[in-house]
Amino acid sequence: MAIETMEKQKTQVDGTSCQATSTAKYDFAGHLEKILETAVKPVTRTVDGLYNIFLGMYTVLKNTTRDPITSSYPTKMPELYSRSRHRLGLNVDPDTGEHLCIACKLCERICPDACISVIAHPDVKAKSSQFYIDHGLCMFCGLCTEVCPTDCIINTVDFEMSTETREDLVYDIRKLTLTQEQSRNYFQMKGYKTKRQKAEEKLMADPSKKAPAEGGICHKAVDAALDAMGVTAAA
Ligand code: SF4
Ligand code: SF4
Repeated sequence: MAIETMEKQKTQVDGTSCQATSTAKYDFAGHLEKILETAVKPVTRTVDGLYNIFLGMYTVLKNTTRDPITSSYPTKMPELYSRSRHRLGLNVDPDTGEHLCIACKLCERICPDACISVIAHPDVKAKSSQFYIDHGLCMFCGLCTEVCPTDCIINTVDFEMSTETREDLVYDIRKLTLTQEQSRNYFQMKGYKTKRQKAEEKLMADPSKKAPAEGGICHKAVDAALDAMGVTAAA
């Protein structure tokens, strides 16, 4: 009995000693890790700091020699992107000068700022008699131009609209209407066909219609086709 008790005590003592040895090993690894961290961290920080200093110096040097990108408006007009959206305008038919608005009021309905007001012509069907846009409210989102079925309302590249009063920012149909030349430029830039071009193409594609003797387009026939489409022919 006494021997058994002694053996148990020995085992207990051995176990404690083993535990103590493994704890000592673990602590050594931890210490080693801490030492390494303390030694490496300052080095990485220094390298990182130097890199950022050189990066800053490089940016300064690079920009010291280049030309300034600021432009002195209004002495020099800024170059605008062709798709930039500024004041709104109403296209006319480039060939006839007729208004393209059919008073469908889609633009008026979709405008999130409620800054468009279209008044349909009381006598003439599918024509607007008045058209108002408050550029003081407009946020130039371009939604009205997206829904217009006749490509009438467009965003122009004219951004110089500063006025002394807010009332002057309300444009009526007279101020909104673009010239034939401006409308033609827009149609060409977008690659759209005018009503005359469409009528001419339709005529050329129709084999039942005879071509004129000289081989060109029969303008009388085109005018007749335009009349049938309800478009006044050019003078
Ligand atoms: S661009 Fe936008 S905010 Fe301006 S009139 Fe058109 S829909 Fe309204
Ligand atoms: S969507 Fe176009 S056609 Fe319709 S009212 Fe507006 S501008 Fe005129």
